[in-house]
Amino acid sequence: MKIMVSACLAGKNCKYNGGNNQNENVLQLIAEHEVITVCPEQMGGLPTPRIPSEICNGVVMTKDGRNVDKEFRLGAAKCLEIARRERPDLIVLQSRSPSCGVKQRYDGTFSGALLEGAGVTAQLLIKNGFQVVDVEDLSDFLPGLS
Ligand code: SF4
Repeated sequence: MKIMVSACLAGKNCKYNGGNNQNENVLQLIAEHEVITVCPEQMGGLPTPRIPSEICNGVVMTKDGRNVDKEFRLGAAKCLEIARRERPDLIVLQSRSPSCGVKQRYDGTFSGALLEGAGVTAQLLIKNGFQVVDVEDLSDFLPGLS
């Protein structure tokens, strides 16, 4: 099976704070399947570390008020291009991210509050018909994972 994953879940230090979200289930996928890693925020040209961002009224803004919508959408478009080329059977993305969140994302107030809805990259991949799953739901899709 070919699987695309958020790079931070694979242990890459591409998170806004320079860290990662390494996930044991994703490491198991890497051991057993062909895995492609993507970080849409880095692919959109943003540095690491970077100021955290949220989607505010449909536009991605950094916590200090800079408009980074263009970078987020460029990163999403590049992920879509890779997905169209590689045709992954499944795409596993990090929870609650303004790029990768599948079910929920932060609400744009930088207060920690969440709302229902996907991040920019997840939205684009779902809209284009890819099977996208939040990493927290991975074991429901692939029995055998914890
Ligand atoms: S954009 Fe996605 S892959 Fe990159 S650090 Fe954020 S959650 Fe991880």
